[in-house]
Amino acid sequence: MAESSSKQDYFVGVDLGGTKILAGIFDNSLKNLATAKLSTKSQRGVEAVIERVARCVQDAVDEADLSLKQIVGVGIGAPGSVDFDSGTVIFAPNLEGWKDVPLKKHLEKLLGVPVFVENDCNIAALGVYAAELKSKPRHMVGIFVGTGIGGGIVIDGHLYSGFGHTAGEIGHMVLEVNGPKCGCGNKGCFEALASRTAIFQRIKAGVKDGQKTLLTDMLGDDLDDLRSGDLRKAIRRGDKFVDKVIEEAAEYIGIATANLINILNPEVVVLGGGVMEALQDEMMSVIIETAKDYAMAGAMKGVEIVASKLGDDAGITGGAVLARREAKKA
Ligand SMILES: [Zn+2]
Repeated sequence: MAESSSKQDYFVGVDLGGTKILAGIFDNSLKNLATAKLSTKSQRGVEAVIERVARCVQDAVDEADLSLKQIVGVGIGAPGSVDFDSGTVIFAPNLEGWKDVPLKKHLEKLLGVPVFVENDCNIAALGVYAAELKSKPRHMVGIFVGTGIGGGIVIDGHLYSGFGHTAGEIGHMVLEVNGPKCGCGNKGCFEALASRTAIFQRIKAGVKDGQKTLLTDMLGDDLDDLRSGDLRKAIRRGDKFVDKVIEEAAEYIGIATANLINILNPEVVVLGGGVMEALQDEMMSVIIETAKDYAMAGAMKGVEIVASKLGDDAGITGGAVLARREAKKA
């Protein structure tokens, strides 16, 4: 049998989140061939979650009509601090009991494939950089606004991870010294001012104080099932209160963007995450205007501020990029 000259390599990217696990199969050119999704169920314990990650990978491989033997590597983004070299998740606040978990070791045992672990937002930044930015800028900052706010910094085409692999914690940049308390213990972090959690808290507090909003007509007074998409619907129907809360959040995102531009002067700042995906039409112009107001003279020249089109797929794409990068080294 003649050997094929176009032997294809396949990579798996995994986004391990607090509520769901997403796995995607990619080929060498980062084309997404199949995906699979599973709820995380972190209350079942660390071992159970790792088994669910393995099952989700297997499901995606199966969906693409491949076998694990054809997979060169698995890149996984975990929601917390990660020791890249050992593939250990040091701490993940949204996963119950995750402290010093040797994720790489356990997953490699279950899958029989090399596994690489990184912080989830670093990986999302890598995904956006490799798959979305065709111009291949030298420097890029990714800001991901969802339940929390995370970021990733690309310098000279490489993910910047810092001295102890903790760089890119954009969400914990302090923007209001006397601002609301953040999950990290500080006050006034970017994340405590503009994440989905912060936005929802402000809306719920406003409703308690008697603010009128269409959201209570849509969802009831408790706003239990509130989602980012509901905010967009309310704004488009003329809800002034929601519009103001979202404008404030967008201003904080703009200020954070200006700070990062002043410090790093990247060619591109990419905004992603669930909040941006749902509300980019409402937020982008405010973010760009505010960033211009706060950036130093000259620092914004030629800098692009754009919304990511990858949405939820940024994490799995970045996982595949990481696996491809590490496979090349081997
Ligand atoms: Zn914080």
